[in-house]
Amino acid sequence: MDYFKALSDLDVTLVAVSKTKPANDIQQLYDKGQRIFGENRVQEIVEKHAILAKDIKWHFIGHLQSKKTKEIAPFVSMIHSIDSLKLLSVVNKEAEKNNRNIDILLQIKIASEESKYGFTVEDILTTLNPELFSFVNFRGVMGMATFTDNKSQVRAEFQNLKKHFNAIKSKFFANNEDFNQVSMGMSGDYTIAIEEGSTMIRIGSLLFGAR
Ligand SMILES: *Cc1c(COP(=O)(O)O)cnc(C)c1O
Repeated sequence: MDYFKALSDLDVTLVAVSKTKPANDIQQLYDKGQRIFGENRVQEIVEKHAILAKDIKWHFIGHLQSKKTKEIAPFVSMIHSIDSLKLLSVVNKEAEKNNRNIDILLQIKIASEESKYGFTVEDILTTLNPELFSFVNFRGVMGMATFTDNKSQVRAEFQNLKKHFNAIKSKFFANNEDFNQVSMGMSGDYTIAIEEGSTMIRIGSLLFGAR
């Protein structure tokens, strides 16, 4: 099955998650028309950015250490994984140094697993002051569901993320049309994510094979 064709025909933005895969695999999908690629390691995204076409939009989707932000700030198109106010202010500062604005998503922890990074929605509603960050464009939220076969749990977690998006939007971004993205759904759960309001899916293994 040609997943690329099927996934790019969907009514959501497709982020092709190319982590661990060689530049050649990215080039093949690029040649079919894909322009948005997602990576989760700083060194890897920097290296791939250096050698691949300049019109690729690079999305950073993994946990980002503040001190490494400066390496991606000159070129990164969107950071999905803003998971603390400290990181947000570092990204804002590095964007300013580079004379640009960086699109960001607020990562919210929706999974029951201990290991997933992210804000709670209460953190955001009680502590965020978007006006302090004029070099980032707040575009929406990102979340990862629990890794489980329990589809109703996954669905409930995606419903929560959509609800959190709405709450954050109405508190801070009611008049900001650009705050319109809900990044949720991976190879195993993207159909449920789309049913629950995803606007952006992050697909690795279906496109590039198992890692
Ligand atoms: C690896 C990764 C994906 C893609 O996972 P697949 O199951 O291979 O589609 C999506 N989002 C994040 C944050 C990832 O780290």
